Amino acid sequence: AQRPYIVGNWKMHGTRAMLSEARAIDRAAERLLKVEVAIAPPFTLIHASRKEASLIGIGAQDCHAAEGGAHTGDISAAMLKDSGAGFVIVGHSERRADHGETDAAVKAKAEAALAAGLSVIVCVGETEAQRDSGEAESVVASQLQGSLPRGEGVADRITVAYEPVWAIGTGRTPTIEDIATMHRSIRARLGEAYGETGAQVRILYGGSVKPENASEILATEEVGGALVGGASLTAESFVGIIVAAT
Ligand code: 13P
Repeated sequence: AQRPYIVGNWKMHGTRAMLSEARAIDRAAERLLKVEVAIAPPFTLIHASRKEASLIGIGAQDCHAAEGGAHTGDISAAMLKDSGAGFVIVGHSERRADHGETDAAVKAKAEAALAAGLSVIVCVGETEAQRDSGEAESVVASQLQGSLPRGEGVADRITVAYEPVWAIGTGRTPTIEDIATMHRSIRARLGEAYGETGAQVRILYGGSVKPENASEILATEEVGGALVGGASLTAESFVGIIVAAT
């Protein structure tokens, strides 16, 4: 079985003072080799985080779909790679909501990242209204259909993160049964997209993961790890989640 994959998404948090947290997470990861650990700090800390931490993965939270050009303020996948990133998160619900990113835009970003040699975490998840109206699985299936890059060898470098929008930063989580049902459904969609190799793709759960709920969530069928926001901002709580994954 693959190692659980625990990824911290720092979102728009962190100045150089936070590099000490990256260092502390890296030191803990050195003791907990059964878990694959990564953080996605803001763009401005990628290079310095890569230098501070030797073991954990360092990634970005977004990239532009183009190789380069007149896109003021944007960052290409090749730039991320050059600054030390090994992966990029695409399609986070905050980007879909704040920047109007469509499934097609997310897919284009994922393709650009793969072309630049990065791994990709593709995020999907339903809103509360969609869950209440019984559409959660169909919404996620349609996001996957539109957002996942296809092709030979792609499954090796893709991770899917299921993050129900209503569970992000709220302290609320789906029931374990609901997480299992959704992850099984995502696994089936990955089989359609990638054939046999779809079984290798890790499916992370994200949304209010904390040291207190992590072991139960991580023990759930088809949950291959966690994408953690708030609780990844201090080494103390993030390492608690890493320990829960062992
Ligand atoms: P929280 O862990 O703060 O709920 O955020 C989850 C998330 O959006 C990670 O990408």
